[in-house]
Amino acid sequence: MNSVSRGSVLVVEDEPTIADVVARYLRRAGYETQVVGDGAAALAAVGARRPDLIILDVMLPGVDGLEVMRRLREDAGTHQVAILLLTARGDEVDRVAGLRLGADDYVVKPFSPAELIARVDAVLRRTGDGTGAETELSFEGLRIDVAGHRVTRDGEEVVLTQREFELLLFLARHPGQVFSRDQLMESVWRYSFYTDTATVTVHVRRLRAKLEREPSAPRWLETVWGIGYRFQP
Ligand code: CA
Repeated sequence: MNSVSRGSVLVVEDEPTIADVVARYLRRAGYETQVVGDGAAALAAVGARRPDLIILDVMLPGVDGLEVMRRLREDAGTHQVAILLLTARGDEVDRVAGLRLGADDYVVKPFSPAELIARVDAVLRRTGDGTGAETELSFEGLRIDVAGHRVTRDGEEVVLTQREFELLLFLARHPGQVFSRDQLMESVWRYSFYTDTATVTVHVRRLRAKLEREPSAPRWLETVWGIGYRFQP
């Protein structure tokens, strides 16, 4: 499931550290990813590669992000690529102008990479033809209805809290991959300062109690001693 590309994303950002982090998260989430550093290169890349979505920073050297958008949206011959804008905090003008020009969504800097990926997923789910984003994850005996936020085990519904669902979904989207409690906090709790890693432990325990046939000998939610947790597909 993870070997199949979930779509292609062009990252247009002139700050290398931000571009690198975003590209890394996108690839980890299963997106084919290309990075360019200015507006002219962005226009060329859209023409040549036809990405499904562009993450477009507004503040770029030369042709800025809003001008890139204007040109893309005016050119009727260009396929209508989804656009997610990156704007500076407090820059209401850019946000309004961006949405008016046809941005699908925006994210304000500084942002958490996990949140950005969630927005990318959501935009592609809304705008895509359905081939890119998954609607359901299915494993032996376990089904996760992503859009409907429902989980069934052996055909019976398992009622989860929002956070339990997000934790399960995150792990199940990365089957076989081990995550530390810190990584899960970052990806699922998204940098909330009011949680600590004990929260992760508690949620995993609750999730097992609801999900597993034998919570003490988990089939799906494995503990990897000294490291963290892994979803066993
Ligand atoms: Ca920039």
